[in-house]
Amino acid sequence: MSTPADPRPLAGEPLPLDLVNTRWTDDDGAHDLLESPGGLAIWLSSAGLAETVPQSQETLDALVTTREALFGLLQPESINPRRDRELLNETLRHGCFRRSLGEHGSERKVETDSPGWLAAWQAAEHYLRLLEDNPSRIRKCANPECPLRFYDVSKAGGRRWCSMATCGNRAKSRSHYARNHRG
Ligand SMILES: [Zn+2]
Repeated sequence: MSTPADPRPLAGEPLPLDLVNTRWTDDDGAHDLLESPGGLAIWLSSAGLAETVPQSQETLDALVTTREALFGLLQPESINPRRDRELLNETLRHGCFRRSLGEHGSERKVETDSPGWLAAWQAAEHYLRLLEDNPSRIRKCANPECPLRFYDVSKAGGRRWCSMATCGNRAKSRSHYARNHRG
């Protein structure tokens, strides 16, 4: 059984941002991958979690709650940062890394109290790592109407758009139009 293609304009960002990017807007309006039929399977497959995470209601609920927390925390002016932090910490309390020494060196394994929290916990934990790494590289697409987030890994750190093919091009043609229709 093969999973249908990921319909989102942007995929492949670090897990917490990829989770937030399950909601996007285009000319047809607002979309939510997690609310669409079969959407959870598509997301798990896209995020490389299809083999390890069960496709269950518990997984979906945990992801939706964690997405809410991440979305709030990623707002430039979080409306209720304390609530969002608490929500994220609630997700984090469902799991931990178990460290051990294996044949080839150090190993770590994710352990959650229930398999349904596995994906959400990994997204929350990865968000902490992005904050430790370089929080200024967590950005929102420069198109004000586009809610997508990305982690800028370019050397100069000048990435502005979720994708050049959509928002980047639109802005380019808008400024081209403005230049040619001035006065
Ligand atoms: Zn965009």
